[in-house]
Amino acid sequence: MRWSRSYIPTLKEAPADAEVISHKLLVRAGMIRKMTSGIYTWLPLGLRALEKAKAIVRREMNAAGACEILMPMVIPADLWIETGRWDKFGDQLLRFKDRNGRDCCLGPTHEEAVTGLLRGEVRSYRQLPLNVYQIQTKFRDELRPRFGLMRGREFLMKDAYSFDADDAGADKSYMAMRDAYHRIFSGMTLDFRQVEADTGAIGGNFSHEFMVLAETGEDSIASCTGWPGCEWAANVERAPVVTAFKEDSAPCPPMEEVATPNQHSIEEVCAFLGVESRALIKTLLLVADGAPVAVLLRGDRELNEIKLTKLLGADRLAFASPEQVREWSGAPAGFAGPAGLKGVDRLYADNELKSGNDWIAGANRADTHVRHLSLIRDVTLPVTWADLRNAVAGDPCPRCGRPVELKRGIEVGHIFKLGTRYSDAMHAVFLDESGREQPMIMGCYGIGVSRVIAACIEQNFDGDGIMFPPPLAPCDVHLVCLDPQNAGVAAKADALNADLTALGLETLYDDREERPGVKFKDADLIGLPAQVVVGGKSLARGEVEVKNRRSGDRTTLPAEGFREAFAVWYQGVLRSWRP
Ligand code: ATP
Ligand code: MG
Repeated sequence: MRWSRSYIPTLKEAPADAEVISHKLLVRAGMIRKMTSGIYTWLPLGLRALEKAKAIVRREMNAAGACEILMPMVIPADLWIETGRWDKFGDQLLRFKDRNGRDCCLGPTHEEAVTGLLRGEVRSYRQLPLNVYQIQTKFRDELRPRFGLMRGREFLMKDAYSFDADDAGADKSYMAMRDAYHRIFSGMTLDFRQVEADTGAIGGNFSHEFMVLAETGEDSIASCTGWPGCEWAANVERAPVVTAFKEDSAPCPPMEEVATPNQHSIEEVCAFLGVESRALIKTLLLVADGAPVAVLLRGDRELNEIKLTKLLGADRLAFASPEQVREWSGAPAGFAGPAGLKGVDRLYADNELKSGNDWIAGANRADTHVRHLSLIRDVTLPVTWADLRNAVAGDPCPRCGRPVELKRGIEVGHIFKLGTRYSDAMHAVFLDESGREQPMIMGCYGIGVSRVIAACIEQNFDGDGIMFPPPLAPCDVHLVCLDPQNAGVAAKADALNADLTALGLETLYDDREERPGVKFKDADLIGLPAQVVVGGKSLARGEVEVKNRRSGDRTTLPAEGFREAFAVWYQGVLRSWRP
């Protein structure tokens, strides 16, 4: 593509609202433009990268036996009412009425739509298994759209849905998708991990996420340091913590109160008493579906709300208000403790607290804590022990016992085994071999195709701009003509462009009348894997300069016989991207 005939509005400065590097660079490189919060236009170069990602996804989905369809973006409410999600999905679902007053929504995901499609059509086990997918724009009215393409309101998703006659078949379909995802993300040369995931609002039996590793990731991943020997990794949201019980046989002196005037937070109390936070019990008061619950954690730990919600089987979980804290504990926030807690009858404690015997905790009285608290001796409420905290670095791997480490990741894909949740609710049944009606067993498999482009940049950039991995680069080669006004140089650049095209490569041909400095800066900013620079001086020596964007290596190739020399050199560029 010729720059002068395309639309590539590069910028020196990033927009003020861009917080993460992918957002900054995508805008600066002239690939996307914001229309409104979380909604972007794809400009020519960005669109090319997106098309590359789509093509890789499509190739592997087709190879895995899935068949492409395209469902509408507008879905009638009736289908969502059948599954109960019309109310449950919350404000992310953009609802509206058509001119006849019928409720509709913009599809944030298509379980209802696809189940509604196939339930009338698939009647026999002979028609199963079936896997259909689409690559389509989704709309989710995210609470906090941010980070550009990473968390948009409108975004491109590949969503696939499998339908099987039995559980073993559903597992097989799931594995086929999992393997396809590995091929997709490896094919994009992304550094990623498959992690065990929570099933969230979509629901179902089990699920995995695919995370691109990057500092800026919104997700936290616990992964075994034994990797790749032990491949265990899980989203911290659902990473189980295995706590070994250690008997603490030291006797606990009688519990006593200590004055802690105005020391509300764990840090304040620790500094005041001169102890470490691990010597404290943190008492959290929450409201689960309207009823009070107290949770005990070691002072240096964080509550995992997902684990607690699951344990309670609750729909809604929130922290108690200051008034509720005062009512239930008899003290202002910061002084609640497990001994003598009045307004709560459900007490949950993290497994880790079993091993200790002599704790500091709130006294349920203003400006007061207790020390030498023994949970067994001093707490009258029955305690339910459970895994309630977030995993931290150094916790034992639940699979092999080696320590885990924490990494940040960007979720680019998510696969679920749904079971019969949707087919039961929507009566999507088939007749099995013995003529009995059975619900179809489903799986669903998403990839955030537009988010992949952002994630790829979060993983591949330097101070000058993007470093596109070849499979996702908008074009393969950035051809810079230094003086297009010079007819000889321009003719040679045209010839080289034809050479590159003949090699099957796609070029971005910078034929603008701009200063060399501007062109070099733009080339590094856009970050195509290879650069070719044609100028009068080097041509006079019979040479053309080339640069590997990622390694920064430069060399010269002969102007005569360029095509063959370039083909060899470019293999090196591709090799430099292989893991
Ligand atoms: P997240 O936890 O990031 O909100 P999710 O669990 O809601 O993701 P899914 O419903 O599984 O995501 O959607 C499938 C894929 O779509 C995700 O793995 C992600 O890559 C992508 N995705 C989800 N929400 C967005 C968004 N707001 N913007 C861009 N991509 C998104
Ligand atoms: Mg979400």
